[in-house]
Amino acid sequence: MEHVTVIGAGVVGICTALSLAEKGVAVRLVDRAEPGQGASYGNAGVVAPHSIVPNAAPGLWKKLPGWLLSKDGPVRIRPEHALRFIPWGLRALKHSGEAEVRRIAAAMEVLNRDNVALYRRHLAGTGHEGLIQDSMYVYAYRDGAAARLDGLDAEVRQSLGAKMIRLSQGELRELEPDLAPEFEAALAVVEQGRATNPGRVGQVLTEKLVRLGGEVIRADVKGLARAGDGWRVETSAGAFESAKVVVTAGAWSARLLAPLGLKLPLQAERGYHVVFPETEARLRNSVMDTDAKIVASTMEMGLRAAGTAEFGDADAPPDPARAAAVERALRRLVPGIGAGRLETWMGVRPSFPDSLPVIGELPGLKGLYGGFGHSHWGFMMAPKTGAMLADLVTGARVNMDLSAYSAARF
Ligand SMILES: Cc1cc2nc3c(=O)[nH]c(=O)nc-3n(C[C@H](O)[C@H](O)[C@H](O)COP(=O)(O)OP(=O)(O)OC[C@H]3O[C@@H](n4cnc5c(N)ncnc54)[C@H](O)[C@@H]3O)c2cc1C
Repeated sequence: MEHVTVIGAGVVGICTALSLAEKGVAVRLVDRAEPGQGASYGNAGVVAPHSIVPNAAPGLWKKLPGWLLSKDGPVRIRPEHALRFIPWGLRALKHSGEAEVRRIAAAMEVLNRDNVALYRRHLAGTGHEGLIQDSMYVYAYRDGAAARLDGLDAEVRQSLGAKMIRLSQGELRELEPDLAPEFEAALAVVEQGRATNPGRVGQVLTEKLVRLGGEVIRADVKGLARAGDGWRVETSAGAFESAKVVVTAGAWSARLLAPLGLKLPLQAERGYHVVFPETEARLRNSVMDTDAKIVASTMEMGLRAAGTAEFGDADAPPDPARAAAVERALRRLVPGIGAGRLETWMGVRPSFPDSLPVIGELPGLKGLYGGFGHSHWGFMMAPKTGAMLADLVTGARVNMDLSAYSAARF
């Protein structure tokens, strides 16, 4: 096959290009920035086969007003963005019934299944195998009564294979001594994984791609147009033609595709992290504060907490108030952090109203594929998404129903 171009070198694009190169395809990976930046750089590093409960869940509409009104609430809509958010928000609510949650969870599980093993396979032989570690995913509750293994979230996870345990206050303290004592209980999903440096995972896999013959091009993609049976890619570094193109440009993907007549409800759901490089406080697992909705984890660069869903323009400047809210939440979760240096970051999750990505050939656009919209789960879903796209692009048999990920669903 002639060469394939992958636009966007976040972790989804990197894994896609790598899976294509492993099949012997000549691949070009194009990004305007260094590979592995974007949302893929600063996320919470959770790689959990059973992170499969979508964002819109029963009762969401009751919680949302309180979240929006609270200064440190986990959701914010930038005022200038409100009119563009409302139709998307209403669509998201339509997916919040129990039957939808179960349908979507099953489709998420397909993308997450084996994610730890798939990352380990990609990293094998790179000398950086330790970037993915075994971990529990611990959901910590201040109200012990809410930590129920028979609640909908836990029941959905267990119905799709998760092994979960309930930890009493004492057991939680033993597992994570640096957590605030106010947490009365936790639910832990066992046998999950976590990345100790998500940005580094992207860099290492890009280096592997280059070793396999993949080409990495630094250019801003300005547009796409048909060229015979293939596609013409217009970039800041000139134009080139490609037999097939895969768009993995995260939150910017819909913007690239709109001129081709494809209108997709992709929102930029901005998130923030804080890192304390010097703190002595440690976590052994990924830990979610189920009230503040932040996830904290000890990484190579220090203790990181990531969270917040801020709906706004993908390119609007970061809001320091949101990073400060994540910092306050982390200090409530791990009170012994101390006063050391603090780093902050903002990244943009690409989010569809049903919490599922687009994966596959785009409707009416033969030879043009999409792999974007992974929302809160793109780091962990990247290896499977890349493998699926590599199969689709090379015409290999894909033995699964892909309709849940089709762009035609909108
Ligand atoms: C705070 C936070 C915490 C998170 N925690 C987790 C977690 O614990 N686990 C998890 O699995 N997921 C998590 N996520 C989600 C995850 O980070 C994203 O879903 C994932 O990184 C998306 O990857 P991507 O490759 O699609 O997009 P990105 O990483 O954003 O990459 C898109 C790339 O496309 C490039 N690009 C865009 N437009 C163009 C153009 N026109 N020309 C050239 N290049 C272009 C950009 O420069 C960028 O490099 C989190 C996200 C955030 C923000």
